[in-house]
Amino acid sequence: MADDTQARPFSGYQEWSQFLNKYYEIDDQIDTLWKEGKKEEVKKIRNILDELREEYIRRLPVLPLSRCPFCGSLFKFLFDPWGLEGFWWNNWGGGISHWDYSPKPCKHFILLLGALNLNGLPPKGGKGECRPGPEIPYVIARILNAHRSRVAVISSIPIHNGYTAYPIAYFTREWSVSVGSITAHWMYETINIGAYWTDKPEDVFDYELLPWVQKGKIKWIEPNDETCTISNNPKFPYANLPGRRKELIIREDKLRTVYIDEPIQMDEIWSYLKKK
Ligand SMILES: [Zn+2]
Repeated sequence: MADDTQARPFSGYQEWSQFLNKYYEIDDQIDTLWKEGKKEEVKKIRNILDELREEYIRRLPVLPLSRCPFCGSLFKFLFDPWGLEGFWWNNWGGGISHWDYSPKPCKHFILLLGALNLNGLPPKGGKGECRPGPEIPYVIARILNAHRSRVAVISSIPIHNGYTAYPIAYFTREWSVSVGSITAHWMYETINIGAYWTDKPEDVFDYELLPWVQKGKIKWIEPNDETCTISNNPKFPYANLPGRRKELIIREDKLRTVYIDEPIQMDEIWSYLKKK
């Protein structure tokens, strides 16, 4: 679709939701056509869906999510603030890299992770599986401890559906740490090391944040601070938040969780599969 290069951003929730409903309606046709043996039609529809996913990504806003504590640059990133039905939240990213549509971060930025609190609301996602992180912010000691200058900046951003997202951006003063070489970014399940892709490392998530704050390894932006300013407030607002300390896996109205700080809980997975 040549005219889509100028696609304007979604004006708000309404337009975003209509667009995705249209997408999922077209997607629903595939099963029927496939059963009827109409392979050419299926191919045509798959192409349309590919184009629509790309259009969706291009129409998302680029939002300030964090700020570099070293040079003060805003960290702006492509983001879907409306709901998990959007492909931004899929762990395959809808087949399109968020980085291709985001401005280049400052030289100190090395990693974006995140958490998502459902705030007690029911799970609501799209047809694709999404792994938005656990419900409360965390850090990975392996990454923070690898260099004395490394710092994680925690912020929060409200999602239209009532959830709260917590971007966790890592910055450093080291030379030559390439973005994406430490672990997989928020939502992504694989990590690109040089020329090949591999699964992300199974890191321990540390939810006890106050000791890291005291060591100066965590900085933060106050909730609802639209200027995204690094806070000087002595009280850290993201300690001991209520929520699941396990990675969420959401698909449509189904939620399951996986422990990150222990081997995958096979019991949980089996009970989930039995319920399906
Ligand atoms: Zn910087």
